Amino acid sequence: MSVSTAAADQTVCSPLPVLGSDVLVPLVTGGEVTYAALDYAASAPALQRVWDDVAAYAPYYGSVHRGAGYLSQLSTDLFENSRATVAEFLGCRESDQVVFTRSTTDSLNLLAAALPADCQVFVFETEHHASLLPWRNAQVNFLNAPRTPAQAVETLERALATRDPSPSSRLRSSRGGPIGPALVCVTGASNVTGELWPVKELAAAAHAHGARIVLDAAQLAPHHPLDIAELDVDWVAFSGHKLYAPFGSGVLAGRADWLRSAEPYLAGGGASRKVARRADGGVDVEWHTTAARHEAGSPNVIGVYAIASACKALTEAGFDSLVEREQQLVTKVLEGLSEVDAVRVLSLFGDDAPRVGVISFVVDGWNSSHFAAALSAEYGIGVRDGLFCAHPLVRTLLGSDPQDPGECGAPEAEPGERSLNAIRVSFGAGT
Ligand code: PLP
Repeated sequence: MSVSTAAADQTVCSPLPVLGSDVLVPLVTGGEVTYAALDYAASAPALQRVWDDVAAYAPYYGSVHRGAGYLSQLSTDLFENSRATVAEFLGCRESDQVVFTRSTTDSLNLLAAALPADCQVFVFETEHHASLLPWRNAQVNFLNAPRTPAQAVETLERALATRDPSPSSRLRSSRGGPIGPALVCVTGASNVTGELWPVKELAAAAHAHGARIVLDAAQLAPHHPLDIAELDVDWVAFSGHKLYAPFGSGVLAGRADWLRSAEPYLAGGGASRKVARRADGGVDVEWHTTAARHEAGSPNVIGVYAIASACKALTEAGFDSLVEREQQLVTKVLEGLSEVDAVRVLSLFGDDAPRVGVISFVVDGWNSSHFAAALSAEYGIGVRDGLFCAHPLVRTLLGSDPQDPGECGAPEAEPGERSLNAIRVSFGAGT
């Protein structure tokens, strides 16, 4: 493999140059085969620019925060510069922290582990399992699926206004009792329907009732500009591999206070500032109060650099043109599907609701898994089938019982019968 030596020419501790094309081109390798990858919502192909940046850095890979040598300094510098790039990409406030994680799932589990002891959590049943399930140690309130964005806001307001008082807070609920900390978790764009959720309105409702809000931006970040301050959300979580940077990193960005007071997500080197034996034989630990507190162990510098590279590429390409192109495709796909009588597109907020490039549907009389397999084998089109890690939502949309614990990917109904799972096409930059 030939690799540019541009990185070696840089002064130690200066950021690496941004190499490669400025054009957003997803790299889908298939030799002679023409293959349409329409499963971006699961994992998006890396941008050529991201591969180029990572390839240029790879020969200079070194440990982060752990060495005096050239490679270590270069890698540390690159790692911390990436943090600044991500903060800028997300429009972070001065006091926000950007913590690097493995994925959205990891980010939300980290936040769940950092919740104050008596924190209540409010989450719609329509969420991806990554947003629905991490809160097992907190008091979770599952909210019913709304059928319009306005209903989502009303449902949340009602739930927050009537939440159980907690003795540990100085805030007062509308019922007069003191209320404790609360967290709302909401997705920006559904991984099933692609529909956009009213994040700003939900954030305003949360704050009006003394709650905080975390935005699951796994599906929003690749398709829309994000601004934490403008949306007024407390945290944002997203994954590199859905943002065209598939090297195993994710992000949790937002308010520092709960993160700073929580026990480290992982205990170990990098999270600890000072460790000393005590006279009684134990060990005293002083943990970092920065993002490093939750980043114990050797970090995934390549994954983090890839995310920063993707953030830069998307910002430079401009979201306006991306959104415009994607919306043309959304319209085209929906129009095409509407011409087939047997197809039903899934939607929570109605057929005209704004959505990103994620569309799920069922085909009357078809097993969705067989349909997806046929699309791949016969037409070279890669899609996803199943319940998309959002079982209650997909069951609601299919008209089956959201409480039915039936298996993901269950066999399909006979022609004319209700479908048990669905097919999803999704696309993004470069399609
Ligand atoms: N949230 C949403 C809306 C998703 O679509 C996904 C993945 O599909 C996740 C969270 C979890 O992302 P990851 O698997 O990268 O942790």
